[in-house]
Amino acid sequence: MAAPATPDSGAVERIVIENAAIATVDAQDTEYASGHIVVAGNRIESIGAGRAPEGLANVVRRVDATGHLVTPGLINTHHHFYQWITRGLATDHNLFNWLVALYPTWARIDEQMTYAAAQGSLGMMARGGVTTAMDHHYVFPKGSGDLSGSIIRAASEMGVRFTLARGSMDRSEKDGGLPPDFAVETLEGALAATEETVKKHHDASFDAMTQVAVAPCSPFSVSTELMKQGAELARRLGVRLHTHGSETVEEEKFCHELFGMGPTDYFESTGWLGDDVWMAHCVHMNDSDIAAFARTGTGVAHCPSSNARLAAGIARVPDMLKAGVPVGRSASTAPPPTSPANSTPSCATPC
Ligand SMILES: [Zn+2]
Repeated sequence: MAAPATPDSGAVERIVIENAAIATVDAQDTEYASGHIVVAGNRIESIGAGRAPEGLANVVRRVDATGHLVTPGLINTHHHFYQWITRGLATDHNLFNWLVALYPTWARIDEQMTYAAAQGSLGMMARGGVTTAMDHHYVFPKGSGDLSGSIIRAASEMGVRFTLARGSMDRSEKDGGLPPDFAVETLEGALAATEETVKKHHDASFDAMTQVAVAPCSPFSVSTELMKQGAELARRLGVRLHTHGSETVEEEKFCHELFGMGPTDYFESTGWLGDDVWMAHCVHMNDSDIAAFARTGTGVAHCPSSNARLAAGIARVPDMLKAGVPVGRSASTAPPPTSPANSTPSCATPC
């Protein structure tokens, strides 16, 4: 993808920020105790120590940031916006019990609820410095309206750069899965709706504010066929892949009982390891699993608050980073030299 041209210096509007402490979070972790940033259009035109260059044209706003720190916006790598409206329910449950308790409630969500929940989630994140967010939404009850559209509308109105991970579930109780029969889609229905969402909303351009990923929910709520065909669909459409993986001991047991292998081997067998995949949680990973993620470039969304809330366990993040696995992480920790991403650990709600 080609980078866009430099803004026209004569016509573009500029914002100048001066007297700021600046943490660039670039490859060298360059910092300025007192520096300036010039934004021309939607590009950072210059950044450095001291005051901004003299004689800039079309400066529409000049900010004195004395006493403030300027950093890049944070990135939320995993979230479920709709769960905000049920945050106070089933508070003492582990993952599987929590899901089973709430599926009947979630099966009644509609467009207005997902829109309101997205506004609340995005507003909270924006106040915390998040400028790029994602929503893994996988509950699409019949007759609930345009849920994907409502979430994307909320993100667009908030001005947040956004990826909708269009989730899906088709393995219900009757097929050995966790969700009740009324909470799932059919294999064909989920694939068709996901493709329609990508074609309607995904923007592949350099400056895209809205993108869509293919995101079947988890091994215990999705058929093997939907995992396989979902991966094929994403690669045919040229979009990224997202799902939950290795979150709990119960999931690991489920995979061994149903598939005769652990989650990571199952993901590999269904096409779900690769540098176009990022996976949430990844708590119960052995050395071989971590090596497989590193070898394939599969990304991890670290979800410490959710993992703590549901007693899922503690992810082996230091081992993953040491092995070279891309991990979405908190900007508050010192960046290791191998880590390519600057992002917040996510899952503000359990998931
Ligand atoms: Zn989740």
